[in-house]
Amino acid sequence: MRIVALAGGIGGARFLRGLRAAAPEAEITVIGNTGDDISLFGLRVCPDLDTVMYTLGGGINEEQGWGRADESFTVKEELLAYGVGPSWFGLGDRDFATHIVRTQMLAAGYPLSAVTEALCDRWKPGVRLIPMTDDQVETHVVIDDPERGRRAVHFQEWWVRMRASVPAESIAAVGAEDAKPAPGVLDAVREADAVLFPPSNPVVSIGTILSVPGIREAVAAKTVVGVSPIIGGAPVRGMADACLTAIGVETSARAVAEHYGPDLLDGWLVDEADAATAEEGIEGMAVRSRPLLMSDPESTAAIARAALDLALELKR
Ligand code: GDP
Ligand code: CA
Repeated sequence: MRIVALAGGIGGARFLRGLRAAAPEAEITVIGNTGDDISLFGLRVCPDLDTVMYTLGGGINEEQGWGRADESFTVKEELLAYGVGPSWFGLGDRDFATHIVRTQMLAAGYPLSAVTEALCDRWKPGVRLIPMTDDQVETHVVIDDPERGRRAVHFQEWWVRMRASVPAESIAAVGAEDAKPAPGVLDAVREADAVLFPPSNPVVSIGTILSVPGIREAVAAKTVVGVSPIIGGAPVRGMADACLTAIGVETSARAVAEHYGPDLLDGWLVDEADAATAEEGIEGMAVRSRPLLMSDPESTAAIARAALDLALELKR
């Protein structure tokens, strides 16, 4: 069986670990979000790709959900001693090595997809991880900065430095319209028995992947089942509500499904807290309620199994 999943960072990575456990025989291709990518200290950092790679490869900081386990921050401290920031983006010493290897390979002319494959040679995530595109796409956010007025900032500055405390007027995936899906992305989708949307951020993770021309159309042609990242009207962790508000979508399991729409989604899993949504139904898709908290490996695998089972059931 061939499964394709679109994935952001933490929510995507944890779901994928469950999926790998739930369907050990399946060939899983992960299309990773690169809209969060940022250049820092001359290095190319791909937070979502690395979160997936470290989580599935056993190198993640489990409590935090991102970054390396057993991490130290000597390089960051030394940079700050030179007055070189930003200090708000936490790159640890072990993590730095990943970005150095990536930047060196990119400078030598390798596309990001080849670099990601090379990094995964070490981590052996048990899935094929492909960036959505080899072209540079960066999510930017327009804010009314209390200090500096109306301006666009990199997504990471809004998300990490400001903790999304300033409302976003708009969110744009800069460069997406001219980007091409990375080699292998469209073929993997075409050959998939099912496409799954983990409970990743619908705007800046899944939405960004779908904004690369060709990907949405290819995905829409398949049987697609999504898992709601919104439970009882709030994100499980993080500030996804700030992103949904920016695009005029209510923070609810129903509104997120309707935002994706029945052209894209065939099935939608909501938490038991949103059982009413499943009972009322959503036009054009099958909605099921079940526990959706990825609290441990077993419950996470059960969520992934339920998503896969629904997709196979709905497959035309
Ligand atoms: P990011 O790139 O690190 O922000 O991660 P993703 O975009 O992949 O996922 C973020 C989303 O995961 C957030 O909107 C959370 O609400 C969602 N999430 C985190 N943990 C859980 C969980 O246990 N269950 C569900 N259903 N969603 C979760
Ligand atoms: Ca992310």
